[in-house]
Amino acid sequence: MLLFDDPEQARPTISRGRGVYLWDSSGKRYLDAVGGVHVVTIGHGVEAIADAAAKQARMVAFTSTRQFVTEASVRLADTIGALLPDPLKWVYFVSSGSEATEMAVQISHRYFTARREPNRTQIVGRWNSYHGGTVVGASIGGHRLHRERLAPYLLPFPHINTPHCARCPLGLRFPSCSLRCADELADVIEREGSDSVAAFMAEPIVGTTGGAITPPVGYYERIREICDEYGVLFIADEVVTGFGRTGLNFGFSHWRVTPDIVVCSKGMTSGYAPLGAVVVHARVIETLRAAGVSPGLRSTYSAHPVSCAIGLAVQEYVVKHDLVRRCARMGSYMMTLLKEMRDEVCPVTEVRGKGLLLGVELAVANSDRKPFARNLRVAENVANEARAAGLILLAGSGTPQSIAGDHLVISPPYIITEQECALVVEILKKSIGAVAERLGIT
Ligand code: PLP
Repeated sequence: MLLFDDPEQARPTISRGRGVYLWDSSGKRYLDAVGGVHVVTIGHGVEAIADAAAKQARMVAFTSTRQFVTEASVRLADTIGALLPDPLKWVYFVSSGSEATEMAVQISHRYFTARREPNRTQIVGRWNSYHGGTVVGASIGGHRLHRERLAPYLLPFPHINTPHCARCPLGLRFPSCSLRCADELADVIEREGSDSVAAFMAEPIVGTTGGAITPPVGYYERIREICDEYGVLFIADEVVTGFGRTGLNFGFSHWRVTPDIVVCSKGMTSGYAPLGAVVVHARVIETLRAAGVSPGLRSTYSAHPVSCAIGLAVQEYVVKHDLVRRCARMGSYMMTLLKEMRDEVCPVTEVRGKGLLLGVELAVANSDRKPFARNLRVAENVANEARAAGLILLAGSGTPQSIAGDHLVISPPYIITEQECALVVEILKKSIGAVAERLGIT
């Protein structure tokens, strides 16, 4: 029997996918406005990708990187390197985002071993962030409910606030705040001892757990300065934001920074196969080599040939159809529609995000954005209502301050059309209206 996290919720059997649509076995159609979970970029059912998978499986389905490479894995690594700033070119493939987070932590450790700074073991995370479902991911991540579930096993990593100007956790205003939220990183490093902090990890734009919370101008530049000042590595978790999702190849490129390690996954294969990667700065690899320290990475399915062939075919498809630019264009269009909705629909207090990673925040009207009581499950109710109407959205909860707080995330495949964007917003608006009326929160 298949086991689910929430067995109460019924799951229809999906029998077909094409473009932005999925059909279940009863013939009901769904507009997949979150690409599964921010995964599908090129749309469902692209024949060229199925062909690339079959071709690779026929040639050779599996070899181990302990003995061999394949043309697909070498070419995909080079393709990813070419999407990133020059020094970020060393790619280690894994099978998921969580595994990529784990490898980023292990590489950081090897780097500081090579530098003879073995006490640098702390990884600084941010409240409200998500870096994977494993113990390491949850230890760096800052979603309070996820952390509660794994509490006895969590590593004691420190956290700073997630920058969210509309709800500044420090009660300040941008730009007069002078990016105090970024300076919290320096405070934590000073508090922990600069010889004990290895890395700072952040999603450039926070995905599901934050509902596309987007830091202000200058934030990551200041973070980079602090990391450089204290010799701390900056790890960008691009699992959601990578491969064009925010309208640029990688989310950090909205700021003028280059991370030391990039963690990525979802959009790499658009979900046609599981695949993740850590991409490491040349300086880190050179330090390991100079000290004769190996990165020490272990994963049976690293650079799985079929997954890599699929990743390569997907990235070629993205370029051929100019989909990153299309994502930026459709994102702006959807954002315009969402802003119109915000001005008309009471419980919508903020719309945010970049490209096709967009968040819609719901809070008590005329209350300075007071969150609804969590037991109302407002966001979940809206997502369920939308699903009944044939629209798939993701519901999220929590603000940097508490577990209460409701938001919906919209992250459709980049091939979505203007008419489909309009349909998404129309169903969303009706769903919010229906739930608001039913719960008496209008
Ligand atoms: N990092 C971020 C930002 C994510 O959103 C996720 C998953 O949603 C992960 C890491 C973990 O990826 P996976 O679920 O593939 O292990």
